[in-house]
Amino acid sequence: MMDGDQARKLAGIRMLVLDVDGVLTDGGIIVHSDGTESKHFHVQDGHGIKLWHRAGGITAVVSGRTSGPTEYRARQLDIAHVLQGQLDKLPAVEGLLRQLGLGWEHAAVMGDDVLDIPIVRRAGFGVAVANAVSELKAEADFVTRHLGGHGAVREVIELILKSSGRWTALMERYER
Ligand SMILES: [Mg+2]
Repeated sequence: MMDGDQARKLAGIRMLVLDVDGVLTDGGIIVHSDGTESKHFHVQDGHGIKLWHRAGGITAVVSGRTSGPTEYRARQLDIAHVLQGQLDKLPAVEGLLRQLGLGWEHAAVMGDDVLDIPIVRRAGFGVAVANAVSELKAEADFVTRHLGGHGAVREVIELILKSSGRWTALMERYER
């Protein structure tokens, strides 16, 4: 059941800020001997991001690491803002918000580890995935039921869109 405080926070959200490893992926990184790597993304999260964009939402990914698969996956999902190699995520996200004319109250931030604490704490709606570290969960407005890389992003997108009534309109094209 959603309380009034949560509904009010969700109503202002215009941008999703997503950590990559452990949020968009399950945290596993397959490192090949030639230095390239593989990551495991979830297709329902991917389609959720497409639906979020169709509803007028903006998405950014912010990662402490730098990796080719992240760049490629972001492009596939039309994610406009890709911030990689950001060990200090607060100024990176703050700069992006300023550039877009948005404030922290417009941002839903999802994370899984201590690196995400500063941005989850500041976010209008701060989210920790189900398998996040306890230090991050303590700072979050919401902890997902789904694990990172297993539908947690989709869960939050649905939560935001359903709370504002936008989900029903998006589903119309799939009705028969
Ligand atoms: Mg992470």
